[in-house]
Amino acid sequence: AQSADDQSAQSNGKALYLDPSAQVDRRVNDLLRRMTLEEKVGQMTQIRVGKLRGDCQWTAGALRDDCMQAVLTDKNVGSILSGGGDFPVPDNTPKAFAEMTNTIQHYALDHSRLHVPIIYGADGVHGHNNVVTATMFPQQIGLGATWDPALLEKLGASTSRAMRATGVFWDFAPVSDVSRDTRWGRYFETYSEDPQLAGSLAAATVRGLQTAPGKDGTASLTATAKHFAGYSQPINGHDRVPAQIPVRELQDTFLPPFQAQFDAGVRTVMINSGAVNGVPVHASKFMLTTELRDRMGFKGVAISDWQDVRALTDTYHLAADYPGAIALAVNAGVDMAMEPSEAGQFTDGLLQDVHKGLVSTKRVDEAVRRILKLKFDLGLFEKPFVDANAANGVVNGADRDLARQSAAESTVLLRNDKNVLPLARSVHKLVVIGDTADAPARQVGGWTVGWQGPPDNQVPSVVTPLQGIREAVPGATVTSAPDAATAVAQAADADAVIVALGEKPGAEGLNDKEDPSLTADQQSLVDAVRATGKPVIVVLLTGRPLVLGSVANANTLLEAWLPGTEGGHAIADVLFGAVNPSGRLPVSWPKTVGDEPMSYDQLPGTNGGPSSNYDPAFPFGHGLSYTTFTTSTPTVTGEVDTDGKVTVRTTVTNTGASAGTNVVPVYVHTPVSRVLVPDKRLVGYARADLKPGEQREVTVTFDVGTLALTSGDVDAVGKREVPRGAYQVVVGDAAVGFTVR
Ligand code: BGC
Repeated sequence: AQSADDQSAQSNGKALYLDPSAQVDRRVNDLLRRMTLEEKVGQMTQIRVGKLRGDCQWTAGALRDDCMQAVLTDKNVGSILSGGGDFPVPDNTPKAFAEMTNTIQHYALDHSRLHVPIIYGADGVHGHNNVVTATMFPQQIGLGATWDPALLEKLGASTSRAMRATGVFWDFAPVSDVSRDTRWGRYFETYSEDPQLAGSLAAATVRGLQTAPGKDGTASLTATAKHFAGYSQPINGHDRVPAQIPVRELQDTFLPPFQAQFDAGVRTVMINSGAVNGVPVHASKFMLTTELRDRMGFKGVAISDWQDVRALTDTYHLAADYPGAIALAVNAGVDMAMEPSEAGQFTDGLLQDVHKGLVSTKRVDEAVRRILKLKFDLGLFEKPFVDANAANGVVNGADRDLARQSAAESTVLLRNDKNVLPLARSVHKLVVIGDTADAPARQVGGWTVGWQGPPDNQVPSVVTPLQGIREAVPGATVTSAPDAATAVAQAADADAVIVALGEKPGAEGLNDKEDPSLTADQQSLVDAVRATGKPVIVVLLTGRPLVLGSVANANTLLEAWLPGTEGGHAIADVLFGAVNPSGRLPVSWPKTVGDEPMSYDQLPGTNGGPSSNYDPAFPFGHGLSYTTFTTSTPTVTGEVDTDGKVTVRTTVTNTGASAGTNVVPVYVHTPVSRVLVPDKRLVGYARADLKPGEQREVTVTFDVGTLALTSGDVDAVGKREVPRGAYQVVVGDAAVGFTVR
């Protein structure tokens, strides 16, 4: 007897898997049964677009049929990506990008037996940063400072719309690694040092990115929770150097942001390229199966990072040859290999492993089932193509208001002695100097058009601080000086000097810094203009909280991070008071490089001196406003079960003279704990927009489950559970008790 899912299953006159009205699981099973082993391992492979054009190896040139045949037909490859260094198309317009993905899709569908669509992936980490005309939003570290999930959801939806318009249905974003070491070159790609803040913002981004396309008419897009896990804490701060993270700390700190995204429905994860506790994560069954699948319940696709299956033999020497490395990775839990060198080396190696019994067909089927389900869920079988003629209209210059709003919301007013800010629009003369005053590439940062930031001849249409300030005060003289001496001379009759400082754009290892400090030149520039006695406003456009050196003495300090296309407008909005700054530090600001790695939730130690206590230049959560706020002593749910929820209510009052937004962090303190815990842990936060004199009650509800700790002595990892007993909710200076029974 034949079941409905048999190979010959037909539905509405066609193969069952091609019937959109059939259930996804049945479509997956039907397709899987029709596939040869060769076709299956092809689905587990993702190849860089450069291999489809030019000389079938690198990135330049037009798509070539013979290159596409070698990858898509001969090796049945199921996914293509633009890696950071892959310049997508010669003229780099959204339309040309969409035409490219359509051509690849046509080839894949027309030159294959079963017509399985490819899924195209790219890194859209702050907007669709793969095309030069797209609007660049602030990099993640700036968005972390907004503490505004609703905003991030909108940004995710905007990025999704732009990427889908060009045929990209897999975004390798967001990064949910917690940032605790400013030496690390990818610090700017993270949201926060805090797991709750990073996780809640990543989950909001996922919801935005995975928004149903609706009238956009395309298939859906999948986000990626990356890099699973422990990537952000390389032991010496250098990218992809091994990390040592006790399992308890992994579970308490590094994994919760991933769980938040799994709960939000993220469909894929990307694996940490590095080793954790002596095991490359790509070969770690503990990480990729025991934790990821069994404990955390992730059901989607786990993709390797760039060439990282191969690294198990070439770099890590865990296996003598490539097939051995493939067996380790696939058995540990890797479902798809990103750019595994040559497509054929991976597929042939995996076939060999299966034939030798090193990898089971069951495991291959499991991986392919996840990949096919992803493609069905996104709607790629029904909507494999996009309307290339519409792409420019969707992408070019889109959502600049949102970019401006998010850049302004991300600014953190670190210091404002004597209330120099906001500046009056009646100023007569301003001097605007410094290396980021008028440097588009520096304010968009890495992962913009190119991996290491935009090449000089391809800078997106950026508004710089100099331009933004000039626009804001058209009646004033705004000069910009090439060096400190000229700046000092110009300052003589100026109302104020604005010094904008930053970093060169970069990413990954090339962006690591052994000394993440403002340079001696930057410091002496600020010293020189401060010596004039004029008000000096230092604006930092950086991807991390750089050690300030003498700039720590500046009286007015504004951190604007890497604000993107609209950065100049946003900075001017804050400087002249059109926007009241509401950003709060999502990370701790180190006093010296020796503070790293650093986070507010460090565990206690017995030497009470400043070198062992938490002693930052500015603490996690710091950020000033042009107005002042008070928060009342909160009311808190008194007794609660381990699977219950706690509700915290507090009244926020704007006690100053201007409208503003207050961010209210809610922490939990555990007076007595058998497991070492930080003095306080963030469990939630709220925002309140308030007019002068206005009062509002804000509510934060959190799951008691977020207080779970991994018990047991140092090496013997025990159960993860919420210890029962007394806790305190901490809001501002007030602490109120509750009991977990
Ligand atoms: C990075 C990933 C990125 C991938 C594709 C890798 O080098 O680690 O974050 O998604 O390249 O560009």
